[in-house]
Parts: sequence; C-alpha cells; structure tokens
Amino acid sequence: MSRKIVIAGNWKMNKTAAEGVEFVKELAGLVSDVKDVEVVVCPTFTALSQVVQAAAGTNVKIGAQNIHWAENGAYTGEISAEMLKETGVEYVIIGHSERRQYFGETDETVNQRLVAALNAGLIPMVCIGELLNERESGKTEDVLKTQIVGAFKDISVDDMEKIIVAYEPVWAIGTGKTATPEMAEETHSFVRSVIAGLYSSDVADKVRIQYGGSMKPGNSAELISQPDIDGGLVGGASLQPDTFAELIKNAI
Ligand code: PEP
Repeated sequence: MSRKIVIAGNWKMNKTAAEGVEFVKELAGLVSDVKDVEVVVCPTFTALSQVVQAAAGTNVKIGAQNIHWAENGAYTGEISAEMLKETGVEYVIIGHSERRQYFGETDETVNQRLVAALNAGLIPMVCIGELLNERESGKTEDVLKTQIVGAFKDISVDDMEKIIVAYEPVWAIGTGKTATPEMAEETHSFVRSVIAGLYSSDVADKVRIQYGGSMKPGNSAELISQPDIDGGLVGGASLQPDTFAELIKNAI
C-alpha cells in the first residue's frame, strides 16, 4: 500500500496575512520540484483568503486550524465549514492538543467538527496524542484508543479513508523532545491497528498518519522513513520557509 506523504505546517497564532503571503511565495519556489509530498500550510483564519490566492497554481496547499460544527448561529468567535470553503482552503486541523488543553475540546467536539469538515469536502487532519504522565504511567494505548473511538464515532468507511490522523505526543510538542523513530513507529502501528479493528485492515492501510512533535530538518527523514509514519504536522519548524522546505526535502 503506498500512501502519499503529507507534511503540514501549523502556524498557530503566528503571521499576519501579509507575512503569510510572503512566506508562501518563497516556500512555493523552494518546493516547486517536490512531487512526492503533499505540502500544506495552515495559517490563522484572517490570513486564509490571501494565502490561498498566493498559493494558487503552486504545489502548496492551504488548511485552516479549526472549524465549528454548526452551519451558523450564536457561536461567537467560531468559523463554519461554509466560511472556510469560501476562503478556498482544502484542509483543516481538528482537535489539536492546544485546543483540547486551552479551549475545552473533547473527543465529542472533535467528532462533531470532523463531521462538519467531511460534509464540506475538506480534508481533516485529526490530532490525537498522550500527555507525558499518561505515557509514563503506561496509559498511552488506552488514551489513544479512547481518542480514536471518540473522534471517529459513526464515521463511514468512505469518509474514514479520506481522513489524515496526526499522532502528536503532547510532551513532544514545542518542547524540543521528539519521540524516537522507533517509539513513534510503535505508536503509529498501534494507531493503525485500532483503526483496523474498528473498520478493516484495508481501510487502515489507506489512512495516512502524520507524526507531530518537534519534527525538524534533522529528524524528518528518519521519522518519515518508518513504515507507518506518512508525514508530519509541524509547528515551530514550519515558520521559516527555508527550514520548512529543508524538512520536506529531507523526508523524500
Ligand atoms: C504542533 O503544534 O502540532 C507541533 C507539532 O509543534 P512543534 O513542531 O513545534 O512541536
């Protein structure tokens, strides 16, 4: 089974629209010869339309960092699927650990947001991952299984095959601590086996699973060469075009 590598940059609350446009123009030039990797960047909501326009005709795709489940209504500060589609984005990050930690996201709201994204034809990148104390107390597999069962509740086989899962050990995000390639592979393989149990091995073989957590140019090759690691979700190392391009090119 060959799964196309997908490397996405999550800019979090960084870069204005003008800075995003400059970034994408530079990145597009640096990765114009990259054919075997889906390259995605996820700017803030206010930058999406302009960055989508700047990326048009290049091989850089654009995603959002969140989506609300309702079509419209009294949800101050939230953005609907239709609003995202209007900007031209193709991808959306759902359930990032920072959203779970600071904004009360639960597996249930992740599932609701996922349904909205799929109904709108957006490609979701659904984040799961354990906290440091959960890993240290041997609970990683239980935590991930609960997150997977909750996030993918009532998701059809057809939809499941379109989803990208981002395994991000929370203790490795923004800390400089990376899971070793062996540790990451073991966990990715576990995640795939849970999906196989819920759906089938055929479906699990099609689902792309990104690794996230202090991925950088120096470790992207070793991580992504693991059989069950199909790309990366990258925070800090996605903020400079040359660093992000190097991370991508090293992974091929
Ligand atoms: C992230 O926020 O998804 C992430 C992986 O961040 P970093 O690469 O900075 O650890």
